[in-house]
Amino acid sequence: MRPEVHQLLSSGVATASTIWDSIRERRPKVPWQKLLWFPLHIPKYSLITWMAFLDKLPTKVRLQRMGVTNDTICVLCSTEPESRDHLFLSCPIVASLWESIFSFSGLNFAACSWDEFLTQARNNWKQKSLFSLVMKLALNTLVYFLWEERNKRLFQGRSRTIEDLLKAIKDVVSVHLSGRTFNRFLVVNINLCNHWNIADH
Ligand SMILES: [Zn+2]
Repeated sequence: MRPEVHQLLSSGVATASTIWDSIRERRPKVPWQKLLWFPLHIPKYSLITWMAFLDKLPTKVRLQRMGVTNDTICVLCSTEPESRDHLFLSCPIVASLWESIFSFSGLNFAACSWDEFLTQARNNWKQKSLFSLVMKLALNTLVYFLWEERNKRLFQGRSRTIEDLLKAIKDVVSVHLSGRTFNRFLVVNINLCNHWNIADH
């Protein structure tokens, strides 16, 4: 196994902050970085999302290109090859998660390419609104939990249902944003609080 792959595969959650410390000074400026590094971001989630966005996570398609494996089948849908774009966006299982996340925020999720998704996210989630914060937090949490879920299925033979994953994502957003200061009289914020279960305190 190539050193890069080995390093990525052997880097558990416990060492995420160490890895982050080692790269934060020399991380390249990328157009989507504000989707990952924002006030209230969760460092270990943003780190995995950063690696996913750079296509540095050892997805099966990447490992196949490196000659490490012949198995490329996605462990979530068991149909399509597990590429970065598939695992975090276009897999039917993942698309259903995105549909729920968008609907909690009063939006419709439309299937699109990775680049289109990033462009829309950058354009629509750039304000300092509760909405932008919720969506960025949901994005980073979804990527982190999906990567964790993929690894559990692959290496431990354990799996959670999609409903469990959705609840886990919702819980992170809820716990992280409850009690925060924002305009609680805006209708859009009231709806977000209701759907995402964000409490006053
Ligand atoms: Zn899939």
